[in-house]
Amino acid sequence: MSEQANLLENSTKHLWLPFTQMKDYESDPLIIECGEGIILKDICGKEYLDGYSSLWLNVHGHRKKELNEAIMEQLDLIAHSTLLGAANVPAIRLAEKLIEITPENLQRVFYSDSGATSVEIAIKMAYQYWQNKGNQKKKKFVTLTNNYHGDTIGAISIGSVDLFHRVYGSLMFPTIKAPFPLQYRSPYSGEAEVKERALTELRAIFQEHHEEIAAITLEPLIQGAGGMNIMPEGYLKGVEELCREFNILLIVDEVATGFGRTGKMFAIEHEGVQPDIMTVAKGITGGYLPLAATLTTEEIYKEFYGEYQEMKTFFHGHSYTGNQLGCAVALANLKIYEKEKLVEQAAKKAEVIKSELAALKSLKHAGDIRQLGLMCGIELVQDKETGKPFPWEKRMGYQATLEMRKRGMLTRPLGDVIVFMPPLASSDDQIRKMVQIMSNSIEAVTEKKKS
Ligand code: PLP
Repeated sequence: MSEQANLLENSTKHLWLPFTQMKDYESDPLIIECGEGIILKDICGKEYLDGYSSLWLNVHGHRKKELNEAIMEQLDLIAHSTLLGAANVPAIRLAEKLIEITPENLQRVFYSDSGATSVEIAIKMAYQYWQNKGNQKKKKFVTLTNNYHGDTIGAISIGSVDLFHRVYGSLMFPTIKAPFPLQYRSPYSGEAEVKERALTELRAIFQEHHEEIAAITLEPLIQGAGGMNIMPEGYLKGVEELCREFNILLIVDEVATGFGRTGKMFAIEHEGVQPDIMTVAKGITGGYLPLAATLTTEEIYKEFYGEYQEMKTFFHGHSYTGNQLGCAVALANLKIYEKEKLVEQAAKKAEVIKSELAALKSLKHAGDIRQLGLMCGIELVQDKETGKPFPWEKRMGYQATLEMRKRGMLTRPLGDVIVFMPPLASSDDQIRKMVQIMSNSIEAVTEKKKS
């Protein structure tokens, strides 16, 4: 048996892949062996454009020299020592940098190793903050419909993507759900009305329950896994104002939107919002190593500070919290942002994407095309006039992405929404090529057209 055949066989025999129906994987196995720039290569030598940034995190492409070097340099010093009760040099330097690039009210950095854990920390921090302050009533969380914050129990409790969360129903703690201001298929007359209606409903919830509400959690400006849904302009600012009025903490999850994805370093910058707690992960290391952080204010931090016997300590931390290699590569990553003016570049790339995606509007089954910076979703529907979805068992989104794969591009669908989220390093030509592949694949699958 060849090495390739052996790997393919053993990948189906021994691996269990995340968020993957293994029956699907068995019929179309894929094993990535290496990458260069935004190209991934499988063990059979076939090349793919990385149309979803290796799950929304790769920034500079693969094998970026400066990032490889930063890891090697750190390896020569130390790979890892615990952050429990002892700091380390890259963790301090990175914290300084994160505080410099985030809103000025955020002054403290708590590390972890994935987006979901950074969210768990945000939940526990907000919950314990009120208790440490002597308020035993504020224990509930308000969340928006269709939010996604990761897959751990706390993160799914404040999330609500039905497909991923339904099965775990009784494991989750209850939250108060407020409507996300969804624009596509909205019965209201436009963006402004969608915004006003959603803020009015949120105000009513805050008015009734504010004494018991610890925090509201949301993905700023664009919901990722919930379907690439974009908030109407001014909604996020409106939520911030309501939080201040009703003394409720604002937690923003910038795990997907952070580090230039939306055309600003952080999505909250579009509306000048200052959250009480903010989570970051994915792009923090350029997509190289697992690292995440939860940032917060001195106001929150000081409620955890005191004599040990007061029991105000924040009881959280994992073996690899604040890993030196992760922090070192994150620092090198952020240096490249400065050197290459990457956020400005991202805003320009977004314009290229916008003009390329415009051509997809004429596709018979492209119901809605949503884009914020380099985060895009193309919703496939059976009937464009009415927005009627395809029967879900047809798995149109999945079929379209399989077709893209055959044509040399990788992405994952969210139901029938095709995600397009290329690395910030994609060239204009590569963007054009990917949009063309998406267009041809969608036509091939939804209209059975050959091209
Ligand atoms: N929060 C948001 C907004 C996300 O999009 C994700 C993942 O896609 C997460 C949290 C979870 O991050 P991770 O997969 O690193 O745990």
